[in-house]
Amino acid sequence: MTTIREVGVGDFVLLDKIDLEHFMQNLEVRFKNGLIYTYIGEVCVSVNPYRTMNIYDKSYVDKYKGREFFENPPHIFAIADASHRVMKQQGRDTCIVISGESGSGKTEASKIIMKYIAAVTNQGMLPRPDGTEKKGKHEIERVKNILIQSNAILEAFGNAKTNRNDNSSRFGKYMDIHFDFKGDPIGGHISNYLLEKSRVTTQQQGERNFHCFYQLLMGGADDLIRRLNLSRQPDQYFFIKQGNAAKVDSINDKFLYRDVTTSLSALQFSQEDQDTLWRVVAAILHLGNLEFDLVEDKLELKKSKHVDDVASLLSVKKSDLEVALCERVIAARGDIMRKEHTESEASFGRDAFAKAIYERLFSWIVKRINAAISVDAQNFQKIYKSSLIGVLDIYGFEIFENNSFEQFCINYCNEKLQQLFIELVLKQEQEEYNREGIEWTNVEYFNNQIICELVEAPHKGVMAIMDDACKMTAEKVTDELLLEAMDKQLKTHKHYMSRQTKTTEKSLRHKVDFRITHYAGNVTYCIIGFLDKNKDTLFQDFKRLLYNSSDKNLKEMWPEGAQHITQITKRPPTAGTLFKNSMQDLVKTLISKEPHYVRCIKPNEVKSASAFDYERVKHQVSYLGLIENVRVRRAGFAYRQRYDKFLQRYKMISQFTWPNFRNGSDKEGVQVLLKETGFENDVKYGKTKVFIRSPKTLFALETSRNDL
Ligand code: ADP
Ligand code: MG
Repeated sequence: MTTIREVGVGDFVLLDKIDLEHFMQNLEVRFKNGLIYTYIGEVCVSVNPYRTMNIYDKSYVDKYKGREFFENPPHIFAIADASHRVMKQQGRDTCIVISGESGSGKTEASKIIMKYIAAVTNQGMLPRPDGTEKKGKHEIERVKNILIQSNAILEAFGNAKTNRNDNSSRFGKYMDIHFDFKGDPIGGHISNYLLEKSRVTTQQQGERNFHCFYQLLMGGADDLIRRLNLSRQPDQYFFIKQGNAAKVDSINDKFLYRDVTTSLSALQFSQEDQDTLWRVVAAILHLGNLEFDLVEDKLELKKSKHVDDVASLLSVKKSDLEVALCERVIAARGDIMRKEHTESEASFGRDAFAKAIYERLFSWIVKRINAAISVDAQNFQKIYKSSLIGVLDIYGFEIFENNSFEQFCINYCNEKLQQLFIELVLKQEQEEYNREGIEWTNVEYFNNQIICELVEAPHKGVMAIMDDACKMTAEKVTDELLLEAMDKQLKTHKHYMSRQTKTTEKSLRHKVDFRITHYAGNVTYCIIGFLDKNKDTLFQDFKRLLYNSSDKNLKEMWPEGAQHITQITKRPPTAGTLFKNSMQDLVKTLISKEPHYVRCIKPNEVKSASAFDYERVKHQVSYLGLIENVRVRRAGFAYRQRYDKFLQRYKMISQFTWPNFRNGSDKEGVQVLLKETGFENDVKYGKTKVFIRSPKTLFALETSRNDL
C-alpha cells in the first residue's frame, strides 16, 4: 500500500501546514508519481507531464461522469463534469478558465475538456425499436465534430513553434458551447484575440512562422504546389526562414497538412474556399521575397517572378499591385495626390500588407467555423432554455529576451485574468461563508488592480499615453518621445520604472527600455516599435487593391476597401485600444458565469517528462497566488460538504445513521454522526453544509469508512 507521504495529498487544503515549502513538496511528490492533477478545493492544478498519459480513455470518462469531486482521484475530467452538471441541472452558464504560462499545458487541457464534453453528451439516443433515430442526434454529432475538428485548423493557422513550446498558441481563444435542456451541445461560438501577426514577417532565432506555411510546403500535393508556383524548400522564402528552424522533430508537417484539409472539408469549406486559403498563404510567401530598388531616384520593385505570383494568387492586376506597393494616395485639403514611398516606407508597407492579409484570413476562418455552428439566438431562446459553457485558452504570461508590444498586451491580459481570479475566488468563498452563516478571517493577498490601472487607466495609463502619441503627426513623434511621455506621467508609479525614473538601474537602457513589475515578475519592454504596432497602419491602397480582387472570398475580407479616399475621415482605433476593449468584454463575459479553474504549471524548460525544476515551479506557484488560494479556501475550514451528500458518504460509520437516519433532517443526521465519532468540536454547521476545520478529521472519517 502506498502512504500519503509517498503520493502526497489530492487536495492542497489537506496539507498539515500551508506554506510554499509544503505545497512544493506535495506537488513534486505527486508529479514524480505520475499524478499530474491536484485540487485546491474545486480549482484544478495541473502539471504538464510532457508524455502521453493513459488517463483519458472511456474507462476514465465513465469513472468521472456525474460524480462528485471527492469520489475519485483529482482529474481535469472532474472540472469538466462539474461545469457541465451545474449548467445542465441548474441552467446556469459556466466557464472554465485555463491559465498558466506558455507551454504549461493550457491548450491540451482545453482539448481534453472538449473531448470529455463530447464523450458524455448525446448518449442514450440509440435508434428506436422501429429503426428511426431521434431527431437532432445527427445535428448534435455534427456540432460536436466541428467543435473538435476546428482545433486542427485553428492550430495550423494560429500556432507556431516558439522557443518555449513547439506548438505555442499565438492567439487567444474563447469558445462558448451552447447546450439544449438535455445538456447536449447544439452550437457554439469562437472568439479570437490578438493574433501575433508580427510573426508573419519576422521570427526570432529557433522559432518558426505559423505552422500552415510549412504544412503547405511539406504536405501540399505536387499539383497544388505547382499551381501556387512554390518550391518545397522553406529556405527559399524570407518570411519563414529567419529562425532557421523549419524542421521540428516533434512536428510532422506533412501529416498535419492532411489533417487540416480533412478538417476543412468536414467544416464545410468548399474547394473554392480552400483554394483561396492556400493561395493567400502562398501569396504571403512570395510577397516576402519582394525587394525594392531606387532607379534614378525613383522607387521601383526589383524585377522578380514573385511579383507576378503575388498578383495572380491574390487575383489582382499586376500593375495595381505594383502601384500599391510603391506609392500611396493621399487626400490633402480636398485634393487627391499620389505620393511615392521611400524605400523604408515601401518595406514597411509590404510587411504590413502581409501581416494584414494573414490576420484577415485568420478571422475569416474563425467566422466560417462560427457560421457552421451558430445558433440562431432568437429562435434558440424561444425553443430552449439557453445555457452555455465557455472555455478560455489564452496566451500565458510571457517574459522573453526581447519584450515588445505583443508581450505587453499578453501580459496585460494575464493581469486581467489574475484580477478576475482574485475577485471571483475570494468573492465566492466569502459569499459562501456569509450565506452559510459561518465566521471567517480575512486572508492577505496581493491585489493586482494597481497594475491593471497602470496599463488601462483613462488618460494616464500606458495605453492612453500611447494613443495620445499616435494622434500626433507621424513626423513629430517617435518611440523615444513616447517613452518620455510615459516617464513623465508614470514616474511615481510603484510598478513602473525606466532609466529616467531610476537612474541607478543600469540594466535598463536609457531612452529604450521601461520595466513593469507584473504580478508574475519584472518584465523589461523595449519601446522600439510600440508606436508603429499600436498605430497598426495599413495604407488604404492595399485595402482597395484587395477589395477589387476577383476572388470573392478575398473581396469579402476587405469590405472597407469600398470607401473612396475622400470618405475616410476617422482614424481607425489603435491596436492597443482594440485589445483593451476586447479584454474588458471578455472579463464581462466571464464574470457573468460560474467559473471553474484549471491552473497549469510547467515543470521544466526542457520539455522533460521527469525533470521538476524546483525554482521555476516555485515561481509559478507564487505568482499564480496558489498558496493564498489554499489559505482562503481553508480560512479555517479544510473541507465542506452538503449535508445529504456527507451523510450518504459516511453514514456507515455510525450505528445511528446506518443504514438510514430516520430521526430528523440530514443536518441532524450529520450532527449525530459527528458527535458519536467525537469530531464535534472540529466542525461548524452551516445552513446547508457542514464545514470541517482540520484535514485530519476528514482523513479519520475516510479511514473509518474504508476500514469497515
Ligand atoms: P500551452 O497552451 O500552455 O502553451 P500546450 O497545451 O500547447 O501549452 O502544451 C505544450 C506541450 O506539452 C504539448 O504540445 C504536449 O506535448 C505537452 N502536454 C501538455 N499537456 C499535456 C497532457 N495533459 N498530456 C500529455 N502531454 C501534454
Ligand atoms: Mg496554447
